Amino acid sequence: MKGQKALITGANSGIGKAVAIALAKAGADVCINYVTRPEVAEEVANEAMECGGKAIIAKADVSKEDEVKAMFEKTIKEFGTVDIVVPNAGIQIDGPFDTMTVEMWDKLMGVNLRGQFLCCREAVKEFKRRGVVSDVSCAAGKIICMSSVHDIIPWAGHVNYAASKGGVLMLMKSLAQEVAPQRIRVNAISPGAIRTPINHEAWSTPEAYDALMKLVPYKRIGEPEDIGRAAVWLASDDSDYVTGTTLYVDGGMTLYPGFETGG
Ligand code: NAD
Repeated sequence: MKGQKALITGANSGIGKAVAIALAKAGADVCINYVTRPEVAEEVANEAMECGGKAIIAKADVSKEDEVKAMFEKTIKEFGTVDIVVPNAGIQIDGPFDTMTVEMWDKLMGVNLRGQFLCCREAVKEFKRRGVVSDVSCAAGKIICMSSVHDIIPWAGHVNYAASKGGVLMLMKSLAQEVAPQRIRVNAISPGAIRTPINHEAWSTPEAYDALMKLVPYKRIGEPEDIGRAAVWLASDDSDYVTGTTLYVDGGMTLYPGFETGG
């Protein structure tokens, strides 16, 4: 991936950080987006630079159009262009449906769905402007939307989150259909249970971990690096004929584990 430029949102934590480091290890220059804790973003950038490439940090709240535009402008100014975009930033704001406020709904949709729209749009603009540069990649650009197994598994108590990820699924597919003729590939990764701060309470005690494993046929929690490796493949020319697809990286969580024993 040498010579390719990647922008990853929410890259100072969990999955975003692992994706940024994996892309840097594969040779890409990386832009580490963050919204809080710039010092952690700096640490990730330093770790990425130890892999031999360039790394910058860019502050932006992905739900805000002007901030997303400014982040892309900064990245393109520093790197010359962008080849790989991973809209990864996401949040959970959980609660029973009948007590869910409009604020809880709108804030989550702002980050998880509007944020993906804004980042995908800026990416497509730059990919179309530049087109294919054949000694860099077969494609004019690659987008990898971070979705979730909850784009197909319903999730009581998390209706806003599941609805946002269901939205990401059709955003990804419809956009992939629209821009395929320009050789722009759009795919998604849907992680299962990955050990990050977003779901700390689901794995941080032995009791919680055992309960979680009932949902995971492969009987281990996923690590952020599992997602990093999948992202490298989807960003590379090894997956050049893959577009509009979701890669479920979930230890079998989407295999209806309740039927493991015959149902
Ligand atoms: P995390 O909490 O460690 O990371 C989320 C990142 O998003 C953080 O860097 C945070 O600062 C950033 N962020 C939040 N609001 C933002 C905003 N407005 N603008 C810019 N950045 C913002 O969680 P994670 O597990 O690494 O989650 C990353 C993505 O993976 C999310 O989209 C999440 O829905 C998805 N995911 C995670 C799991 C899991 O088990 N961890 C499973 C399925 C999907």
